[in-house]
Amino acid sequence: MKVRTRFAPSPTGFLHIGGARTALFSWAYARRHGGTFILRIEDTDVARSTPEALQAIIDGMQWLGLAHDEGPFYQMQRMARYKEVIGEMLAAGTAYHCYMSIAELDALRAEQEARKEKPRYDGRWRPEPGKTLQPPPAGVPPVVRFRNPQEGVVAWDDQVKGRVEFANSELDDFIIARADGTPTYNFCVVVDDRDMEITHVIRGDDHVNNTPRQINLLQALGAPVPRYGHLSMILGDDGQKLSKRHGAVSVMQYEEEGYLPEAVLNYLARLGWSHGDEEVFSMEQFVQWFDLDHITGSAAQFNTEKLNWLNTHYLKLADPQRLAAEATRRLAQQGVAVTGGPEMERVVVLYRDRVGNLNELADAVHPFFVMPKPTDEVRAQHLTEAALKGLGALRERLLACAWQAAELGQIVKQTAAESGLKMPQLAIPLRVALLGMPQSPSIDAVLEVLGRERVLARLAAVLPA
Ligand code: GLU
Repeated sequence: MKVRTRFAPSPTGFLHIGGARTALFSWAYARRHGGTFILRIEDTDVARSTPEALQAIIDGMQWLGLAHDEGPFYQMQRMARYKEVIGEMLAAGTAYHCYMSIAELDALRAEQEARKEKPRYDGRWRPEPGKTLQPPPAGVPPVVRFRNPQEGVVAWDDQVKGRVEFANSELDDFIIARADGTPTYNFCVVVDDRDMEITHVIRGDDHVNNTPRQINLLQALGAPVPRYGHLSMILGDDGQKLSKRHGAVSVMQYEEEGYLPEAVLNYLARLGWSHGDEEVFSMEQFVQWFDLDHITGSAAQFNTEKLNWLNTHYLKLADPQRLAAEATRRLAQQGVAVTGGPEMERVVVLYRDRVGNLNELADAVHPFFVMPKPTDEVRAQHLTEAALKGLGALRERLLACAWQAAELGQIVKQTAAESGLKMPQLAIPLRVALLGMPQSPSIDAVLEVLGRERVLARLAAVLPA
């Protein structure tokens, strides 16, 4: 059997963290088995679907690198196909027209509630052998109902939850096409899962109650029933259901906040799935390990600290070229141009193991690209007369020396000694002069990366003329 999985978001909001995990697991399962991963956009809720939400989903998937092999398929473009299948089901007798009016439905519900029964359709338009139906009322457009089996159970071995069973008596003859002919949600999902030959449906467990209806429909269509795996929900750091209250729930918000996609993916992979005690792994490794047997049925709790830790880890490993591009882009968003500055790739290397995210990285490298403006307070504290004398002597020696970190470090040390200063008494004022602040990575590296011209100009700016 060739594995075919799908991710089927409704474009009614952003790609949130739960959806991204569903997408990741569906993608990984297909990759693991050399199968096909399909993207399907469930946009039939016209009132709530927006082009912005669609774009946010596509952007989120792309940012995470979860490439689909087929699609995106749009349900709104498949209406003719749904109507065709409804026609086939009516012809086969697995679906039927129901002419019950809203008023009749309301009356039925009131009666059932008075009897303390669960409101459900009573099957009055369901054809049965030997049953005579009333003649259809004139001018009432009918809905189409599925002829759900009345006896027995519908059950499946859920890949996550184990065996799940529903009594058919619990499921009524639900509507598959509304009076205006539009197909309903469960029906579209079923036609798509069948037509797209989906073998494994991995989705959130908010869909568990849809599954028995979908299985019955598939069986009525004579279609194979895929395997289902319903993922438990994700709780916030505080153990409450994840919601907007928890801050970054949209995937692209993590991008804005400076997370690397590999950190988010690694984090999501461990959210409800495990491979022994492994915490840090690449997507290649994940795909080799991933299976549906090690997904926990209990809710997974979000842990921002762990995500942050993973982000720090991946920042250290990230390619300087990529970090440079990110820092450049983020500075440009603040109106800071880096042209004419030192080589960004060399600057980011000084900071990639000192920051928690890409925004912090951009902030950290910022002083390399603008003339520093130390505050009066910082000046008064660090640019004392003795310090300025030391900096003056240093400038003389930097005019013509070899420009290389080890050599530069030596020079700073010697100048300090000759000026009667301890190393920090010169190195800290030097940092203030070069970057406007008393802390920085190793001063030799800062000097080297900044380059002779900029160093001399920045020293000149603080030294008396
Ligand atoms: N469109 C559904 C949702 O966004 C998913 C349907 C499915 O996976 O079967 O929740």
